[in-house]
Amino acid sequence: MPNKKITSDLLQGLTHNAIASLRMGVEDYQSNDADRQLSAARNFAAGTLLLGKACLVNAAPPNSDPMAVLGAKFSPVIEGNEFVIKPASAATIDVEQLKKRFRDFGLPAPRGDLDRLTKLRNAIEHLHTDQGPQQVKEAIAACFPTVLGFFELLGRSPLEDLGAAWETMQAVESFQKEEAARCAKTFEAVDWPNSLPIRPECPECGSALVAQKNPANSDPVMIKLRCLSCGSEKDDYQAIAVLVEGAFGGEAFRAARDGANGPIYDCPECGHSLYIANSEVNTCLYCGYEVDGACSVCGERLGVGNVDWEDHSLCSYHAYVASKERYR
Ligand SMILES: [Zn+2]
Ligand SMILES: [Zn+2]
Ligand SMILES: [Zn+2]
Repeated sequence: MPNKKITSDLLQGLTHNAIASLRMGVEDYQSNDADRQLSAARNFAAGTLLLGKACLVNAAPPNSDPMAVLGAKFSPVIEGNEFVIKPASAATIDVEQLKKRFRDFGLPAPRGDLDRLTKLRNAIEHLHTDQGPQQVKEAIAACFPTVLGFFELLGRSPLEDLGAAWETMQAVESFQKEEAARCAKTFEAVDWPNSLPIRPECPECGSALVAQKNPANSDPVMIKLRCLSCGSEKDDYQAIAVLVEGAFGGEAFRAARDGANGPIYDCPECGHSLYIANSEVNTCLYCGYEVDGACSVCGERLGVGNVDWEDHSLCSYHAYVASKERYR
């Protein structure tokens, strides 16, 4: 970034480039050329991120160093007698850092599904062209509220800036919403503990447009899933795994990142990684087994984390002690 200071020209330039990328993304998307779907995804993701960066620049005090606002890495440096924090490279923030910087700047959290955008950016290089259009369509729909929120923060009108491209985005978003609602309806009868959220994501193509093949079915174990986007199907424990991942994958990821366990565990009864234990749920979503009661030796309350896999009436420690005694 050549300018050392934030000026209205710099902000105009960033915003202009963001809008140009979004427009190109929509044009690529609308072409029937499968190869251009990759370019659509790339332009679209870049435009959204750039517009978010423009929001940060807009919120920073005038005359600040733009790299202090958008830099990804900083190092403490001694200059003369002064201790200063300086950008450590020319790299600028990614989507994850953008979210954090919005918080640090006291800006409202970006709306919409930015994770979808991150995944798309990561998937761009491996996109199969036959899956491209649907992925791009879903990313556009997911970014719609985000882009709208960024325009609001910048005090600009998306219709004026994006014109026909904005109308296309609007149409794609409402179509995707209708499709998603249609999919959600197919799970209405499912007898799920504490009415767990159903947010499936196709493990083959990443689409959220996953439906239950038989909407009349209420038994979780009998669920057969079909992805409306790539047509792949899952049943039995693999179908439950898709639903478990959608409902608890985020929570499990955050727990693991913080060095904690749960809420997804291996089931001591059926062995599948489909046992859920958190403050609201304590059951295997596949076989229905629930760890309950207390260890018959020490009286400690049993949970999926400490129950013995062979003898469900003992804690794993006392099951170990018992087995030692048996072989003495
Ligand atoms: Zn799929
Ligand atoms: Zn089980
Ligand atoms: Zn015990």
